[in-house]
Order: sequence, then structure tokens, then C-alpha cells
Amino acid sequence: EDNIIVKDLADKIGVSPSQIISKLIGLGVMVNQNQSIDSDIAIIVAEEFGIELTIKEASKKIQESIEDEFNLDYEDNPEDLKSRAPIVTVMGHVDHGKTSLLDAIKETSVTKSEAGGITQHIGAYAVNINNRKICFLDTPGHEAFTSMRARGAQVTDIAILVVAADDGVMPQTIEAINHAKAAKVPIIVAINKMDKPTANVDRIKQELVENALVPEDWGGDTITVPVSAKNRQGIEELLEMILLVAEIQELKANPNRNAVGTIVEAQLDKGKGPLATVLVQKGTLEVGDMVISGSAFGRVRAMLDDKGKRVKKAGPSTPVVILGLSEVPNAGDLLYEVDDEKTARSLAEKSKEATRAEQMKADQKVSLDDLFERI
Ligand code: GDP
Ligand code: MG
Repeated sequence: EDNIIVKDLADKIGVSPSQIISKLIGLGVMVNQNQSIDSDIAIIVAEEFGIELTIKEASKKIQESIEDEFNLDYEDNPEDLKSRAPIVTVMGHVDHGKTSLLDAIKETSVTKSEAGGITQHIGAYAVNINNRKICFLDTPGHEAFTSMRARGAQVTDIAILVVAADDGVMPQTIEAINHAKAAKVPIIVAINKMDKPTANVDRIKQELVENALVPEDWGGDTITVPVSAKNRQGIEELLEMILLVAEIQELKANPNRNAVGTIVEAQLDKGKGPLATVLVQKGTLEVGDMVISGSAFGRVRAMLDDKGKRVKKAGPSTPVVILGLSEVPNAGDLLYEVDDEKTARSLAEKSKEATRAEQMKADQKVSLDDLFERI
């Protein structure tokens, strides 16, 4: 099904179609230049010319075909959708206060709800504001955001762009704006460090305008909130704005289906084995469910919430740590609940094959000199 026209392949590699055809004959494939060949064959042929075809595409296609074959990420009926909490990522230039802001939000909400406090770091946490939930990805910087997007995962609903009021729009601020725009994620600007005497909101707003973010009070549609992570000024307003934007987005998911989530982070624990923080996006994940993520699979043996408390269930927009996977999954990969172990095993095996193929290509990269020698 994943076919490539021989002529196109020749163009891509930079050789004549007849050279490709003769290699194909050597592989037992009889075609003319207008016919198509399997992408796996195309990869092998390209290799013969010392060219690394974008095998990433191939493995991604394998992944997609796995998803299709097993109908892992099916569309839900609109009537099954229930509203869900927004998932928020904090982005911005280094030292503008991303970590401090996340801490301030965590503390603000903790003092309001439970006195116990959030002790462990699991890469994501949920806060309750007037009985409404917001889920924060606790991985400051856009690295996490971009690597997840590179893997096809769209986790973020709203981006908080932190800009230090005493420093202004910087290169990483612009990068963050571009990433959020590419992902079509709405941006709320938190103008941070308002406690500093050199804070200058108007200057920041002017710089935002120069980057196509026109503040609401300047006639545009970008929400800006002056805050101080240091003395917690403006945090509640920021949270209210997040809820407002989320309301407009009408975020929804079906809680009554096989769970689909994204691995936020994962590591090997000496005693407990592979631990993975999963952000559930659809369905409800329960202890005892069979899950698969890439080549890792297993039955969920136990689940912990973002406060380290054991839980039995996790619905949409809920971060949980799960125990029971066969190996440590990759951050950014999707996790699927499947019906039985047989399905999980076969999916994991297919995924392993795809990874192996990718690995092999990486090892076999041939230099241009080799190419000429070979031809
Ligand atoms: P990140 O690199 O964006 O995560 O920034 P950090 O949260 O690590 O903050 C960088 C520095 O700015 C630290 O020294 C913080 O204490 C300081 N900082 C963060 N927020 C504020 C604020 O609201 N006011 C002041 N005065 N300093 C802040
Ligand atoms: Mg930081």
C-alpha cells in the first residue's frame, strides 16, 4: 500500500530510472519506471546507492498501519463526548521564570485544596480551581513540547508564554511563539517578574505586537496577564484566563472507551520496574488494563496520581504513573489500552520490528565517497 513510483525514487536518489530498474531486477522485482514499488523495497534499493531514504517515514507508516489495523485510535461519536480539563504547557526564554511560575501555581492550588502538598515530581500535575481542573505539563521549556509533537502527539491545549517584564521578547520567546502557532495552540502571555522595579509592561506589549501577538487591551486577541511568580501576584487571574480560554475551546473526550494517552516521562525503578507517567487523553485507564506503548506492553499493576496516591482509575486529562510495563517506553509515544494480551504482544512485536529497521538504517549510513565507489 505504501508505494513509491520508480521514476520518483530515481529522482530522489539522483540516478537514472534504468539504474533503479536493474537493481530491482537483482532483487527479483520486475517493473517499469512508471510502476510503483513497496516502500520497504525502495529503502533497500536506495541503500544500494548508499542513500538513506527517510526511513522515519517508513517506521511512522508502520506505526500508523498498526494503529489502523487494530483500530486503536478510532473516532468517537459526538454524543459520547464529555467536557475535559485543559492541558497546559509553559514555554518561554530561559530564566524568564517558567519553573518559578509552575511552582507558584502548584503552591497556590495546594494551599487551597489539600494541605498535604505535592511531594513527588511526575512531569505533569492537575490543579483544582473552583471545582474545575487544569492539567499542567511540568516540563518547562519547549523541548518536551516539540519532541512530543515530532512524534505526532498533540498534548497541549493552551500554551502559557512566559516573558520577563524586565527583559522582553528574546530568541527562545519567538521560537516558542512559532511552535505554538505551528501546533495551532492558543497562547496566553504571562508577563512575569512584575515585582521588579525595571518591569515595563508597555515595552513587552510592543514587542509582542512586533511578533504578531496583539494584546487584547491594544485591540488584538492575545490575552496578557501581568504576574510575579516570586510574590504570587496575578496567579489566580492567570488560572482564570486559562479556564476562560478552555471554555471557548470546548475541549471534550469520551471517558467510556479504551484509553489513549501520551507518555510524559518514564524511567526504570530498581524495585518497581519500568515507571511511566501517562497523560490520559481519551477513555479511562484502570488498574488491570492491558496497555501498549511502542514495544513496551503489560497489564497496569498499579497507578499513582500526581500526589503519589494510589488510584484505580484515570479519565481524560489526568496524569498518572503506571507500573507494570515490560520495558521503559519513550517519552512522547502514545499509549493504548487494548483488549487482550495477545493483541498487546503482537503490537509490541511489530513496533519493535519498525524500530529495528530504523536502527539498521542509522547504522548503515553510507558516505558520498562510498556511493561513487559503488557505482
Ligand atoms: P526558567 O529558566 O524560565 O525556568 O526560569 P526560573 O523559574 O528558573 O527563574 C529564573 C530566575 O528568575 C530565578 O532566579 C528566579 O528566582 C527568578 N524569578 C522567576 N520569577 C520571578 C519573579 O516573578 N520575580 C523575580 N524578581 N524573580 C523571578
Ligand atoms: Mg526552568
